[in-house]
Amino acid sequence: MAAKKDFEIAIVGGGIAGITLAIALLKHNIPVQVYEQGHAFSEIGAGVAFGPNAVRAMDYCDQSVRYAFDEVATRNQWASKQTVYFDFLDGMAKTKPKVDRDILFTLENQVGANSVHRADFMEQMAKLVPKDLAHFRKRLEDVTEDAGTGRLRMKFTDGTTAEADAVIGCDGIKSRTRQLIVGEDHPSAKPHYSQKYAYRAVMPMQRAIEAVGGERAENACLWMGEKAHVLTFPINHGKTFNLVAIVTDDKEWPDVTHLTLPAHKDEALKDYSHFGDSVLKNLEMVDDNVDRWALFDTCDHPVPTFYKGRLCISGDAAHATTPHHGAGAGFCIEDSAVLTHLLTDERVTAPGDLESVFAAFNANRKERDQWLVADSRRTGEIYEFNTEDPGKDLTKIEKELRESFGKVWDYDLETALETAREDLGS
Ligand code: FAD
Repeated sequence: MAAKKDFEIAIVGGGIAGITLAIALLKHNIPVQVYEQGHAFSEIGAGVAFGPNAVRAMDYCDQSVRYAFDEVATRNQWASKQTVYFDFLDGMAKTKPKVDRDILFTLENQVGANSVHRADFMEQMAKLVPKDLAHFRKRLEDVTEDAGTGRLRMKFTDGTTAEADAVIGCDGIKSRTRQLIVGEDHPSAKPHYSQKYAYRAVMPMQRAIEAVGGERAENACLWMGEKAHVLTFPINHGKTFNLVAIVTDDKEWPDVTHLTLPAHKDEALKDYSHFGDSVLKNLEMVDDNVDRWALFDTCDHPVPTFYKGRLCISGDAAHATTPHHGAGAGFCIEDSAVLTHLLTDERVTAPGDLESVFAAFNANRKERDQWLVADSRRTGEIYEFNTEDPGKDLTKIEKELRESFGKVWDYDLETALETAREDLGS
């Protein structure tokens, strides 16, 4: 193992970005402390999918992250669908389609639909962070530099403070760290509404099989349609059916402080009234009271920089994305791999070396991370036939999706890590 460094990193936020970074740094012998506003490391009870790029980044962070994932990961249940990412279907077909004939096209990769129940994955990873390194109920308010020691002092909303040589904000879509870097009044300080919201639900797989049949329930499906689309995939080793129903909204989101608002199933059914039976059967399974999630992102105003001095942002804090590529969390883990690789470089030994680490991280990650945010927006419109080109041309749609998902999945992490180290030297 590498010699311990003469600096200490503080991570603010213990979501997927923060916890994978914390585990990776710990395993690479880099002193780290985590400050999380919640009372524990926790995640919501919904599914999240990871492509081959994300799995490779887990491996780089540490084998324990990969084992934590493998413990709870769920792939399509049918042997014939192991490499299927999604079967794309016509959501607006009015008559009940014959199974197999309604698949418009299929996207495949090495791992197929590779999903976890978020809370289960987080529970596995939380076990890997020693208790004395995790500080809960610590909501970051400000970061200042101590004129005497040069260390960064974090101030939390409970009035307490803590110090570190660098602070990495993994504090999510409404990141306080982002505001501290770009300034509260900068357009990129806040995320913006993408004019889409999502109904999310999980339910017992048996109920889904009875409603939509085994092939559709137990394997990942993406139902395309005008002004809305629906994704379903199995989680929890096939025992649970996960549904995300996304709707285009021409109004403004009513309350920016609450990105989730309660709704009724009838509203979802109304949103999909122009869809066919197959999709409506999926929605009819949902409980009467269902949450509606606003899809905000940083597309309209990308941040000009991921760092300022020894203050840096990673994950959604740096590049909050809509979910249409199913890759936001995967890119968080790529970020963690690159940051870890840079921080372990033998040239990085003292606090004075940390700004160059963040400069190299910024140079290496910003373009890819911000591409995802922009392309995810476009992909959401493609699913709804809402782009001038490819419009409704299925051949062109399939071609474009194959290319853009290829860019997500075929990321050459090894080369990126090497390039990042070269950037560190420049
Ligand atoms: P978060 O998960 O938001 O974590 C931030 C953490 O910081 C939280 O624990 C929070 O409590 C803490 N925090 C916030 N502010 C402070 C503060 N001031 N002080 C201290 N702590 C603070 N991605 C995929 O890869 N695949 C998918 O299938 C997928 N599906 C998605 C579906 C939907 C509907 C949505 C909305 C997103 C989806 N994503 C998906 C994206 C993915 O969920 C996010 O990119 C990822 O979870 C972001 O992780 P994060 O750690 O950066 O942020």
